[in-house]
Amino acid sequence: MIVAGAFVLATTLLSCEHPAPPTEVDHRPKPGVPTNAWDEDLAGKRLLDSIGEARTGTDIVLWYPKDSLSEAQATEIVARLDRGIVAAKRMVGKPDWNVQGDRRVHFYCLPGSFISHAPGGNCAFIPVWRMQQDQSPWLHEAMHLLLKTDKGDWLQQEDSVAMRRMPLWLAEGMADALAMDISEQEHLTYYSPLIDVPPAATDSLALVVLREAPSDSVLACIGARGKLPQLWGPDRFSYALPFYTGSASFTRYIAKHHGYGPLLKANDGFDQEIEVLERELGMPMDSVKLRWLAAIGYTDHLLH
Ligand SMILES: [Zn+2]
Repeated sequence: MIVAGAFVLATTLLSCEHPAPPTEVDHRPKPGVPTNAWDEDLAGKRLLDSIGEARTGTDIVLWYPKDSLSEAQATEIVARLDRGIVAAKRMVGKPDWNVQGDRRVHFYCLPGSFISHAPGGNCAFIPVWRMQQDQSPWLHEAMHLLLKTDKGDWLQQEDSVAMRRMPLWLAEGMADALAMDISEQEHLTYYSPLIDVPPAATDSLALVVLREAPSDSVLACIGARGKLPQLWGPDRFSYALPFYTGSASFTRYIAKHHGYGPLLKANDGFDQEIEVLERELGMPMDSVKLRWLAAIGYTDHLLH
């Protein structure tokens, strides 16, 4: 679907008359730096970099196909995203975050329907229709970029290693929990294409969907190392809802009771995340998890 989207973008943009040559576009921002990007991302990005529209804020650059957003829409979106990113940098204690000296998050808004994602560097890829309708997980995706640690990059690890060792629940839970809290503080709309409830209802949704999860492996993966393999299989949707909601609920529980400090230190302790978190919280992960499950009313494990 992304390939199809890129094709639409190509035909739309290439039909425009005489795109300005590079020497005439000095006013355009320097393109974002993508790492681990998909081929489809790079194709769409190249088009937007050369002939798309670009709007620059203090902390973001918004890239989008010509005429897909009105002037007023683009201005409003840039202001909104800037506000969220400034707050996000403050929240994670990285006011000087930058990639190769560029301190802005670049949002590449491409046509078509695809899963919003932030492969790395300073680039996030979001369907333009989601940005138009303010139904986009832009802050969640930006959190992945801002939370990147110099100690290592799970996305650049061997797949088999990351599958066993990367605590995916922590990466996804932190992106969600922080996006929810920052949205509330900054009066921004929090939106998740998957967890379609207001943040305050995350715990009650987690309780329902964890009970209905297709396998105990979903709950086992939350609070532990490793990625849930089924998230990449044919049943990914039935696994994704309990996994993402449970991860967000658990991370929010930790943040609520201990603040974000321990979570941020754990995130920074690449490949030692769980050990760092246990040390910071002063208890084993199993104990933290039991307390969280009791707090949301999940006592089913007591029956086993
Ligand atoms: Zn994510």
